[in-house]
Amino acid sequence: MKLETIRAAEARLLLSTYERNPLLFERGEGVYLIDENGDRYLDLLSGIGVNALGYGNPVIEETIARQSKRLIHTSNLFFHEGQAELALRLTERSGLDRVFFANTGTEAWEAALKISRAYAGLLRSEGRNIGTKFLALEQSFHGRTFGAVSTTHKAKYREPFGPVVPGVEFVRFNDIDDLNAKFSNEVCAMLIEPIQGEGGIRPVTQEFFAAARELTRSTGALLVADEIQAGLGRTGKWFSYQHYGIQPDVTTLAKPLAGGIPLGAMLCTEEVARAIHAGMHGTTFGGGPLACAVAIAVIDTIEREGLLNHVTEVGDYFQDRLKALATRHDSIVDVRGKGLMLAAEVNSADLGKLIVKEMLRRRIIINCTSDTALRFLPPYILQKEHVDTAIAALDEILAEHGKDHATAAAAHQAASIQGGEIRG
Ligand SMILES: *Cc1c(COP(=O)(O)O)cnc(C)c1O
Repeated sequence: MKLETIRAAEARLLLSTYERNPLLFERGEGVYLIDENGDRYLDLLSGIGVNALGYGNPVIEETIARQSKRLIHTSNLFFHEGQAELALRLTERSGLDRVFFANTGTEAWEAALKISRAYAGLLRSEGRNIGTKFLALEQSFHGRTFGAVSTTHKAKYREPFGPVVPGVEFVRFNDIDDLNAKFSNEVCAMLIEPIQGEGGIRPVTQEFFAAARELTRSTGALLVADEIQAGLGRTGKWFSYQHYGIQPDVTTLAKPLAGGIPLGAMLCTEEVARAIHAGMHGTTFGGGPLACAVAIAVIDTIEREGLLNHVTEVGDYFQDRLKALATRHDSIVDVRGKGLMLAAEVNSADLGKLIVKEMLRRRIIINCTSDTALRFLPPYILQKEHVDTAIAALDEILAEHGKDHATAAAAHQAASIQGGEIRG
């Protein structure tokens, strides 16, 4: 089998950064991935929120073909047609004024961190009293480069690489008292995923987000929203902060931006953009002609096909059906999210792993993040019938396995409490 040959070769040749599922996909069609044996998998993860328009979208295919014949790369030393056209679409939708293009999420985030420091430096040069500290949130995820990982909460991502970038403090999620205690003139930026992705699809509260906006505004610190997972339509609005009616100073995009071609973007206000001038920051590949052409096609397709409304409608349906499932199965303890960025929290990490495996056996792709959050990030073109298929499979798996795990988890918790250790 081809898979076994590749698996053995990778085991010898690659850095072991991932424990891959034993599947070899060869092509995709709509919301389905098709493996080497021709088996079709319903994809509710879409390459971790990247393949927003699904697989084999003709507009993306034609755009890549056309642009690849004209021009793939020029470097940022020259003009090409794509950047301004794409930046116009992004600024019109975000309420922000200027764009820097990068290749990935983590790079867009680096640009956000660097401009925050540079802007605070500019304010200091103008006589303002403002420091260099970042406030990030517990359970945050912002990427893997040094700056990004320094603002990412989970210790296993950060600690093996220490010392990481200094000057980052973590605020308890949605805890306004902790935010008030940690905020001061020392802070140059407050970093927030309005809906945490990797951290388990956790939305910030309106009150917390508003408090962060008010505090940052009072000192000149920046409010930076990471929309790399939640942005560009995933939640039914172009940006998830728009559900709150709160406008950040800086935001970042990446995952769904260019239909699977790597592209990231950092957006900021005209005021903040004063901090960067030619030569201070850059990239060789970022914002190339191919990636920009595809991103323009992605945005125009979302618009033309009314996909924001579709995401809201199918997402609400999906969330309702998950909530109904939770009333039938005690092992689902919470359902949350917005649009097609959803999670069902189960009561044990073992059950989470088992459900992902059992779903895969039924040819449905999901994953489990933050130990216990079953995560759904399907393509925006998902239909209600696909939701029904997924719910039926979950129902069956939970009926078969949920009970044992509920009992096991309760027994385990009782034992840990007795032992004086309560596991959160
Ligand atoms: C995925 C992700 C990143 C990192 O993006 P990469 O393209 O993997 O570097 C940063 N922030 C959030 C919220 C993400 O979901």
